[in-house]
Formats: sequence, C-alpha cells, structure tokens
Amino acid sequence: GKVAVLHSALTPSQRLKEWKKIQRGEVRLAIGARSAIFAPFSDLGLIIIDEEHENSYKSGSTPRYHARQVAQRRMQSEGASLIMGSATPSLEAYRLMSEGEHITALRLKNRVAGGILPSVEVVDMNYETHMFSRRLVAEMQKTLQAKRQVILFLNRRGFSYFFHCNSCGYELACPHCAVALTYHKRASTMVCHYCGYRARPVHVCPSCRSVDVSYSGFGTEMVEQEITALFPTHRIARLDTDSTQKKGHLQEVIDDFKEGRIDILLGTQMVAKGLNFPLVDLVGIVNADSGLNIPDFRSQERTFSLLVQVSGRAGRYSSGGKVIIQTHHPHNPAIAYAIDGDVDAFYQQELVVRRETGFPPYARLANLVLRGRRRELVQSETDRLNNLLMGYSNAMGVEVLVASECPLEKIAGNWRYHILLSSKRGSAVHHLLASALKAYAPPSGIYLEVDLDPLQLL
Ligand SMILES: [Zn+2]
Ligand SMILES: [Zn+2]
Repeated sequence: GKVAVLHSALTPSQRLKEWKKIQRGEVRLAIGARSAIFAPFSDLGLIIIDEEHENSYKSGSTPRYHARQVAQRRMQSEGASLIMGSATPSLEAYRLMSEGEHITALRLKNRVAGGILPSVEVVDMNYETHMFSRRLVAEMQKTLQAKRQVILFLNRRGFSYFFHCNSCGYELACPHCAVALTYHKRASTMVCHYCGYRARPVHVCPSCRSVDVSYSGFGTEMVEQEITALFPTHRIARLDTDSTQKKGHLQEVIDDFKEGRIDILLGTQMVAKGLNFPLVDLVGIVNADSGLNIPDFRSQERTFSLLVQVSGRAGRYSSGGKVIIQTHHPHNPAIAYAIDGDVDAFYQQELVVRRETGFPPYARLANLVLRGRRRELVQSETDRLNNLLMGYSNAMGVEVLVASECPLEKIAGNWRYHILLSSKRGSAVHHLLASALKAYAPPSGIYLEVDLDPLQLL
C-alpha cells in the first residue's frame, strides 16, 4: 500500500485516487508508464527511467512531450536525481552521457542473471537461396536436440504479403492511404495497417482484368508454415500484433514459452521488449535489413538497437547463447557493430554522421504536418506556411530542411504534407514557431500538427 501505480489502463477515477495518494504523501514511490513522470510528489528525490531508448516515452498525441525531457526539467527545478537505464541508449542520452558535465555514465559489467554474452554470427544472405539459411537451420536442429529453445525474430517492417499483377504490375493499395494492403491468409482479408481498412482478396487484376496475379512477400504466417514444414515435430508459436489480439493470449504464449511448453517462438518487435526466457539458447534474426530503408534519419539507430536488444534474449541464464543474424548488408554499420556487440563504436560513428548532417542530437527539429481531404489545398497551405517561415528563419538561425509530401502522403483519406525545421539552438525553433504560428491560421479543412523533437518523420 506504499506504492502508487499509474498507467493508461486506469479509469479516470482510479487515476485520481492514485494521484491523491501521492499528493497527500501517503506513498513514497510511484511506478508507471509515460505519464507517471508528472506524479505530483512535493519532495521528489529520484526518477528512474528504465529502457530509456523506448519510443513509447514520447507521447504520440498532443501534447507530444517526452518523458526524458520532463524528467530533466523536474530534476533541475526540484533538485531530484535522475537514473536512466538501457543497453542501447538513445543518441540523445548517449551524447549527454559522453559530453555532459552533470551526467555520469555507469556501466554494468555483468549480466543480471549471470549468463555471459551470446556469441553472434552473421550469415550473408546474398549466398543463400531460402528464407532460412543452412547455418540457421543447422543451429536450430542442434539447439532443439539439446532440449533448449529457439526464438526467431522477424522484423515487422519487412514482413508483409502483397497483391501483385504479373501482367501490368498493378498493386492493390488502400483507397484511403498511400500504402499497399497486406494480405492475411488465415482471415482471408486484405488489411490496411494504417487505417484498418479491410477488403476481400481479389483474384483478377482490378486494372487490366488479367488473372495472372499473385500474392507475394514475407508474411509472418508464411514463415510459420515454412518452420512447421522444417520442424514438424516441434511445438511452434507466434507472437505478433495479429496473433495477440485475443485478450490473454499474449500472456499465455509467454508463460508457455517460459515453462518450456513451446520449442520455437516466432516473434516481431514484441520479443525484444525485455522479456526473460531462461531456456533460450538460440536467437535467429531472420531479416536484419528490413528497417534500413525507411526514409528516416533514425533508421540506423533503430536497427542497431533492435538487433542488440533481440540478441540479448539469448543465453541470459546460461553460457551457450548464440545469435545468428541473416542480412544482405553485413557491412552496414548498424549491422556490423551489432554483430561485434560494440555499442560504443556504433554510437561514436553515428554521432559523427549526425553532426555532419545536422540532425539530432546536434540539432533540434520541429516537424509541422498539415493534413486535409483536398490535396491542392494542403499543398498550397504548405507553400504559404513555408513562405511565412522562410521570412523569419534566416534571421533566427533556423533552417527549413523539407517542405513537401510526407513519406506517407495519405492516411485515412487525409493528404499529408510536412515542413521540417532544424536549428542548432532549440530556443531558436521555439521562437520561430511562436512568431510564425501567431501569424498563421489554417483555413477550415486543414489541420496543422506541430511535433517538436519528432521521433519519426513518416
Ligand atoms: Zn493488371
Ligand atoms: Zn488505409
């Protein structure tokens, strides 16, 4: 009863009750997700942010605060201490740690459960013909024979199953978004992963009426089928957002795997999230590359972090941990440094790249996204706002990096354009926005959203 718990599943009245407990000084410790950073302690002494690199610390809707920034502010104004933990800190935190005068880097020398770091092996997929390399299959056999477990990690971004017309090249896109529909075999539907639109699969090309059409790509379901064919006598389970929509299913799979009732676990990003599985000796990363092509300055950082986090699932309690990374780009820095497990070397070179290209943590960004139903209007408003910003920006030391369609130019029927601002000084971005947004009012039907320090630019 001495702890307050704050998370998004609380009802408003439950939340109020927890807040009152804190305010009245009945509890001395609050545990919670992002918004717990606002816990109304009057004598705050210590803030701990675990897995500091997680994107979920930044709010996805207005106000788009980042818990780390709120923590830093509270630390300064309320005299509290701040401890942040991560095996792969964000570049922002890493820079603070290596250059900051008020920040001390504390390094854990041993793994929590005493296991030693797994050995990491790379397979160059340019020399392989199947989705699963001969090396990975051989290691899986060895691991399963020893009655140990295997995790196969599928980078979600790369696993989609699309419609394709072999006659005219037509691809089936969501009518409301500028993205291809993903085919879900089991449910026999085409789904848009951005707006939830669903359609029946087609067997005739909607454009040229050809029947020479196919569904291709990597689907997690397809991977499951292949693995079942390779290891017919072993118990296999899949952990991803599609298979875990049934309530309680997620916990069931995790428990079954922990207790050894499942031999091979196929999972997407979920398996990277700090779960501990004592019997896992082998982690296979099926498609390490698939995050690299995303048009975002953080794609290297994300790929590296994901590979290190996933690799960390192997051999947490034993000495036989092994990781096999399948890649077409073994020399890409994010992949090469993850293979070496050289966290510092990756950060050092990534910081150089960020400094040279003028991206965070050496600059502050603001992403202004305009959206609306009428494309011409969104475009002309983007031009108008851009001109306005240009009028102020030079004098204030702010640069307009981009003023064009978003990489995802249409979501749920709304056309999206963005203006990306950058400055060496964060206060300059603030001042520019304060002046420009006072002078700019979007017309009806146009929505403007301002994202300071955006985590992604899609
Ligand atoms: Zn066609
Ligand atoms: Zn859609």
